[in-house]
Amino acid sequence: MTFKDLGIALPILKAIDEQGYTNPTPIQEQAIPILLNKKDLLGVAQTGTGKTAAFSIPIIHHLQTNQEQTKGKKRVKALIVTPTRELAIQIGENFTAYSKYTNIRNTVIFGGVKQQRQVNALRPGVDAIIATPGRLLDLMSQGIISLKDIEYVVLDEADQMLDMGFIHDIKKIIAKLPPKRQSLFFSATMPKDIVELSKRLLGDFERVTIKPKQATAEKVEQGIYFVSKPNKVKLLVHLLRENPKASVLVFSRTKHGANKIVKKLAQADINSAAIHGNKSQTARQKALGAFKDGKLNVLVATDIAARGIDVEELSLVINYDLPNIPETYVHRIGRTGRASASGIALSFCDREERPYLRDIEKLIKQEVPRMPEHQFIDDSKEQATPENKPQQRPQKHNRPRNKNNRNKNSSNYRGKNNRNSKKSRPEKKE
Ligand code: AMP
Repeated sequence: MTFKDLGIALPILKAIDEQGYTNPTPIQEQAIPILLNKKDLLGVAQTGTGKTAAFSIPIIHHLQTNQEQTKGKKRVKALIVTPTRELAIQIGENFTAYSKYTNIRNTVIFGGVKQQRQVNALRPGVDAIIATPGRLLDLMSQGIISLKDIEYVVLDEADQMLDMGFIHDIKKIIAKLPPKRQSLFFSATMPKDIVELSKRLLGDFERVTIKPKQATAEKVEQGIYFVSKPNKVKLLVHLLRENPKASVLVFSRTKHGANKIVKKLAQADINSAAIHGNKSQTARQKALGAFKDGKLNVLVATDIAARGIDVEELSLVINYDLPNIPETYVHRIGRTGRASASGIALSFCDREERPYLRDIEKLIKQEVPRMPEHQFIDDSKEQATPENKPQQRPQKHNRPRNKNNRNKNSSNYRGKNNRNSKKSRPEKKE
């Protein structure tokens, strides 16, 4: 199936082609026809599946084909609500790229920065707003944004929004929407409170479920290092030194932890930056921009801050801490291996994190391959228990994917036969 088969307007096809998309991803293939048909949609999918294009393209198509001939200021007809600033910016960039050859205009609204620039961007009139909930409500209460003309609404990453405490904001926003509208609701997981929330938004809907959990876990080459807490920094420094040119995203469970990692890396002469909720929006954008442009190789992020990060050529994800929510692990490793690319994700696991690892393996229905023994093994000898024993024998490592790092003698994060070899992967325990 091609995008052309889906019946998308030509200017959008041209823009998609320019993005280098040849075929629709599964969620696009399933969701776009439903949305072009003006039905409501419940999408159970997470970022990395191509869901941004799945909802943006039909909205741009409708906005473009139903344009009013009347002159005058554009009315805001489409609203996309998303949990984080980074994700809002990312969606805005994609929306702009897909609508490049149309006269559909969008703007992005998020907190943490002065509102004036956003207000100025709204002034000439836009067709679509991509917003985080807090600032959106703020501008609504000031009478700067009205939702009365909304015809298309997307609630993106609903589970994440609830986790971040946005439930009341979301309910307030939904209450202000006109009853006649097309509604789209996306969530990676569907616990009870999310199902209830979806009922508030959606009318007669169709459901599309994309199972990226297994898909992501299978696509991304993974490895786990058993390491004591104090040795984690040493192991990180070791891996980064071995791969100085690699573009690495390091996950920390806490903001404080992220700052500490940056400090420790600086002591080892490794340049990095942290992004998390306590950093100003300008600092976050600056760090993210440098990382995306390849000027900064190591970015340390908390889960929420990393949610919207979509960096091409991200060589490696390192879970410095294992997340206590197994789905978060899948989100994290999905930062690499975007769309059809494959990626590498390595995790550090100390004694306290063992239960988290078990939960993760249960969710992804596979065992995360144990990395060969290394010099930063847990000092407390926890490696010695049968449960923790590495399954692979120590082996010489290959070079990483990054072609700038071709040093044959260096140890490295990729096990010898891992890449392109089904054999090196543990059997699935379906
Ligand atoms: P998303 O899940 O929307 O965050 O998209 C993940 C990544 O896949 C982004 O880098 C998109 O640019 C890319 N992408 C989306 N759709 C396609 C497609 N049909 N073909 C190739 N890449 C795509």
